[in-house]
Parts: sequence; structure tokens; C-alpha cells
Amino acid sequence: MAWDFETDADFEAQLQWMREFIDAQLIPLEPIYGGLPADEWRVVQDHLRDQVKERGLWGAFLDPALGGAGFGQLKLALMSEVIGRCMMSMGIFGVQAPDSGNMELLAHGATEAQKERWLWPNLRGEISSAFALTEPFLAGADPTVIATTAVKDGDEWVINGHKWFITNASVADIVLVFAETSPEGRPHRHASVFVVPMDTPGLEIVRDIATMAHPDVEYGQTGNHAELLFRDCRVPADHLIGQPGDGFVLAQKRLGGGRIHHAMRWLGQAQRSLDIMCERAVSRSSHGKLLAGHQMVQDYVALSHMEIQAARLLTFQTAWKVDKYGASAVRADLGMIKAHVSKVVLAVLDRTIQVCGALGYSSDLPVESWYRSTRFGPIGDGPDELHKSVLARTLLKGYTPVEGWPTEHIPSRRPAAEAKWRELKQRAGIPEP
Ligand SMILES: Cc1cc2nc3c(=O)[nH]c(=O)nc-3n(C[C@H](O)[C@H](O)[C@H](O)COP(=O)(O)OP(=O)(O)OC[C@H]3O[C@@H](n4cnc5c(N)ncnc54)[C@H](O)[C@@H]3O)c2cc1C
Repeated sequence: MAWDFETDADFEAQLQWMREFIDAQLIPLEPIYGGLPADEWRVVQDHLRDQVKERGLWGAFLDPALGGAGFGQLKLALMSEVIGRCMMSMGIFGVQAPDSGNMELLAHGATEAQKERWLWPNLRGEISSAFALTEPFLAGADPTVIATTAVKDGDEWVINGHKWFITNASVADIVLVFAETSPEGRPHRHASVFVVPMDTPGLEIVRDIATMAHPDVEYGQTGNHAELLFRDCRVPADHLIGQPGDGFVLAQKRLGGGRIHHAMRWLGQAQRSLDIMCERAVSRSSHGKLLAGHQMVQDYVALSHMEIQAARLLTFQTAWKVDKYGASAVRADLGMIKAHVSKVVLAVLDRTIQVCGALGYSSDLPVESWYRSTRFGPIGDGPDELHKSVLARTLLKGYTPVEGWPTEHIPSRRPAAEAKWRELKQRAGIPEP
């Protein structure tokens, strides 16, 4: 029977290298990371990335046929958990959103010439990309309806529309734009994806939007979210990815494995947060005993551990299912882990803030900042409500309606129970009275 919770020794050695690398090279930089001189950071970042590449761990999420390492989702899940402990490590390991999802999209939909131009440079970290789907005046949760259009004009496509919350658009080289090409194709064949270089005339970056994570946003920083206007923005015909109408299917390609990686990165962050909670609990006293001695604090510690461990196993199981059956066969499971783990991490972060008191609420610890950025989890990549709805509908398909009493109605089951009892007694050799 195959039922093994151990990672093979070679891969465990890779994970251990990652842990040590992140602990020794990246986490120590965190207190000053935001203020590092950009030109010097680029050089240091390349130096760090080279070490990751030498280990064969760079951009590892793509299939081998698509230029990746072919680890499969279970190993990628383990890697993502390690990476999640330190936010800046995503860029060092080449798994930073939105590039990672964009590369999956290009890997699946782009021609060889398009891959040469955009995918491989993106994978090598030479260019960066953004993905523009969400619009200000239509629900981003429902990509079957969008107002941005792309109309063919000779050898060009003309894009008009308004997008917002486009991560990294103000620092990216290209943006992958989701635009409607044929309204009659709604709901799933109406849109297409175009690569638009950021310096294309007709593309205007209106602003970077201040958010909970960055209330005092500074324009043009990695991790910002931009508002974009497309006014008669023209791109050559060969900037269309796939065929007209492929947009929805291609956009889905960005998300399959991505949900597992997100979930595991959140759990990496949750575990680091729990470490902070526990260290504080064994270090500070109140009302004559350590915080760790108060039962409610013990409840926070135990509950957080239980929730993290349960969420890890659920996510590993989903990763294993993706490897075995493919992402499309386990769509409801992928949504389930996204909706579940996004809540677990926030609950753990919240308890850590609580146990650390004013210090937890302050920016002297990293937890408040993690909480603010991770609060996006239940909203983005399909709101949790949507995933729960898909899960519930998938589960409900397995049930058939009954007329009259429910199947489990005890009085209705009594005659069958008595008949079964007579049968069992007879088989066991108990004589009838
Ligand atoms: C930090 C950040 C980064 C982002 N990066 C990008 C990016 O790079 N590219 C991009 O295109 N977009 C990006 N977005 C936008 C993000 O994808 C959308 O915010 C998300 O899809 C939700 O869309 P919306 O904000 O329009 O909310 P809406 O669609 O208006 O939904 C609002 C709320 O309504 C409820 N709701 C909606 N639909 C349902 C339903 N079917 N059932 C039950 N309840 C429902 C949920 O509570 C939901 O949270 C980003 C957003 C943020 C905050």
C-alpha cells in the first residue's frame, strides 16, 4: 500500500538547502529590504538567483516540456512552504506573482516565436510581466463579462479599456491583457489574451493604487498595483496569444498549480508567525505566570498548530491529486484549499498579533505587515465565496432527491432493521422462539 508521508532523501536535501539559504541570506535582510538602493539590489539579487539556478531550483513550477524542472505539484508544494517563510524569496526563486502565472499561460498558449520573445526572457528573469484582467466597473470575480475590447484592424489589434489593481504594471516590461474579441462567444469564448509592451502608445499608467499593504504607496515599486487605460492601443497581430476566444482557457492555466503554491506559501508564513507567537509566550509574564502558562494562550498555540497541520495535509493531498489526475479533474479541491488556507493563515496571524499585544500590533514585528498583505488572500484569485460555491455544487451533484421521508428517517428504517436482525440471528444459528 502506497501511503508515505516522507520526502525522498535527494529532494529533502534540496529543501534543506533552501531553508538554510533563506535563513542565512534573505531573512537577515528583511529589516532594511524596503530601503536598499535599487541598482545595488539588482546586482545582489542576480548573485543570489545564480545560486538558486545552480541548484536547479529556479522557476521550478513549469512542466519539463515547457522548460521547468518537472518536480510535480507535491514537491512544488513543499518548496512553496519554505519560500513562504520570507516574502522576498519569491523573486529569488523565480516564482513571483504575477510572472509565474504569466509564464504558465505563455508556456501553454504561445507560439515558439512568442516564447523566444517573452517566455524565456521572463523565465530567465531578464524581463518582468503583469496580467491585466480586473476592471473598475465590472465584478473582477466574474471574468465572463469584461468591458475592455480588442478589434482587428488589418495586421493589428486595437485595444480600448480600463483595468485596475494590475500588479507590477508600473515596473513591468510587458502586460498580458485580457480583452473581449467576440461578445457572441460569452461566457467562455469571448475573450483573448494579448501581450502589450508597456511602452506601447495608447497605454497609460494612471497611478499605483494605495492598498492596505501599502497605504503610502510610492509610484513604480515592485509589488504595486496599477490602474491602466488603453485608448486605441495598437499591437501587431502576432501579439495575440493562442486563437481569438482562447483567453478564458488560457487565464485558467495561470491558476491551477498556482493555488497550491499560494496555499503553501501562506502556510510557511503562518508557521513563522506561530514561531513568533510561541517565542513571545515563553518569554513574557503576566499575572504571575508566563503567557504560555495561561490556558487561553495555550489554546491559541494549539489551535494554530492544528489548523496549520490540517491545512498542510489537505494541500499536500490536493497536490498529489493534481499530479495523479490533472488540475482540471480536481478543480473543486483546488478552490477548497485556496478558500480554507487563506482563512487559516489570517487566523494564525491574528492570534500572533493578539499574543504579542501592542508589540504585535506595531511595525516593530513583521506580523502586522504580513496580515495586511495576506488579507488580500480571500479576495483575490476568485473570492473564497466563489470557490466554496463551486465546492458545494460539486458535492451536491453526488446526491439524488428523495420523495417523502429522508433516507435516514429512523421510524421508516425500523422494518428493514427488524428484518436484518432476524436474518442475522438465523445465520448465527439462534433458533426462532
Ligand atoms: C493586492 C491585489 C492585487 C491584484 N492583482 C491583480 C492583477 O495583477 N491583475 C488583475 O487583473 N487583477 C488583480 N487584482 C484584482 C483581483 O483579482 C480582484 O480584486 C478579484 O478578482 C475580485 O474582484 P473585485 O475586486 O472586482 O471584487 P468583486 O468581483 O466586485 O467581488 C467583491 C466581493 O463580492 C463577493 N462575490 C463576488 N462574486 C461572488 C459570487 N459569485 N458568490 C458569492 N460572493 C461573491 C465576494 O465577497 C467578493 O469579495 C488584484 C487585487 C488586489 C487587491
